[in-house]
Amino acid sequence: MMTPHDILGTDGSIARRLERYELRQEQLDMSNAVWEAFRKEHHLAVEAGTGVGKSFAYLIPAILQTAGEDIHCSGDDTPPRAVISTHTISLQEQLIDKDIPFLRSVLPFEFTAVLVKGRSNYLCFRRLKSAGEKMANLFEDRKKREMQRITAWSKTDSDGSKSSLNPEPDWEIWNEICCETGNCLGKKCPHNNDCFYGIARRRIANAQILVVNHAVLFSDLALKAGGGSILPLYRYLVLDEAHTVEQAAAEHLGISVTQYQAEYNLNRLYNSRTQKGLLQGTKIDSENRTAAQQAVDECFYAAETFFLSLQDYLDERPGSNGRIKETHIVANPLSGSMRKLQETLRHIIEKTEDMNERTELKSARDKIAALAAEVDVWMQQSLEAESVYYLDRQFTSRGRPRVSLNAVPIDIGPILREQLFNKIPSVILTSATLTNG
Ligand code: SF4
Repeated sequence: MMTPHDILGTDGSIARRLERYELRQEQLDMSNAVWEAFRKEHHLAVEAGTGVGKSFAYLIPAILQTAGEDIHCSGDDTPPRAVISTHTISLQEQLIDKDIPFLRSVLPFEFTAVLVKGRSNYLCFRRLKSAGEKMANLFEDRKKREMQRITAWSKTDSDGSKSSLNPEPDWEIWNEICCETGNCLGKKCPHNNDCFYGIARRRIANAQILVVNHAVLFSDLALKAGGGSILPLYRYLVLDEAHTVEQAAAEHLGISVTQYQAEYNLNRLYNSRTQKGLLQGTKIDSENRTAAQQAVDECFYAAETFFLSLQDYLDERPGSNGRIKETHIVANPLSGSMRKLQETLRHIIEKTEDMNERTELKSARDKIAALAAEVDVWMQQSLEAESVYYLDRQFTSRGRPRVSLNAVPIDIGPILREQLFNKIPSVILTSATLTNG
């Protein structure tokens, strides 16, 4: 049976490859500790200062435990798969582009490792085609060239994720053509077989090591609580840069609604200034179109009134840190207007025969519904976990104030215990700065 010592030791696989290799005892100690935690299936916290080489120290036991010759795991049938979660892109790139290929070159067995990106990183062929056909109704003329550039890239790229587009795509166009939860035809889609996201999902399902960022990890946890998922089942988890875990978890398990989000989602449906939007490009009769556009306009007015009264609320309390302890601090015309808009959209969706258009409208309606529900929860302070509710005000580059409603759970410990530590047999937390006294 191969052990971390056989790879990291003075006469191990790495030493045989690198002439000037020097054993780092702390690295080997950490690797042995992680290896034991995986094999005995318990959790472990390791503080590893700069220079220890912690990525090899956890990657080696993760690879041995998921792809080695003597895979040893007990209990349920969760596959021996390891997830490595980091906070920064630079660390993910180091793992995927440098550390893992190097280990692959020195280890005597094969293993599969994949970088997992969120769904919206991938191009959706169906939405690209549909947006191309509705260009004139969706985007201003100056975006035409960008659309042509992306379309040309989509025909030659093998990965389909926006990071392989250089320079990165115009975000407004990308939002109309990327993969989205609730906006996919699945097996009914004519592009299902060559769908970039579908291919990525299949690679993920077959991989032994998955590299993710904390945002994907906690989005997956939040989805799993509701029956969905991004990641397949896994047995081992390494949380690198673990000092950022608390904040990342709180951000994904709380609420954040910005004025911009509300305006953006309404503009997507209909922008009265540019006369563009989803409703313009959908085949509906003029009576229904006018009713829906009016409902969008009402929402805009309600959003403006609502966020202005929140600003007034803050102005009347100079020196306040934005924390809100009372419910219903101002009148909320926004949720009601959004519900009215949802109802109008439901009526249109029922009459829309084109599957593409129906899916797109449903997805837009669900986003409006989710926003209205979050505003209600925030106003009522009714998150299940005890949380801090606060208002934040930022200024745009033109000096325009932007208010957001936020809530974060006070103590994420119980949530992490229930959703992570009690479910994953072995979780390793590591960072150069883990101790907080
Ligand atoms: S299967 Fe879904 S994500 Fe893939 S191209 Fe079709 S609609 Fe888009």
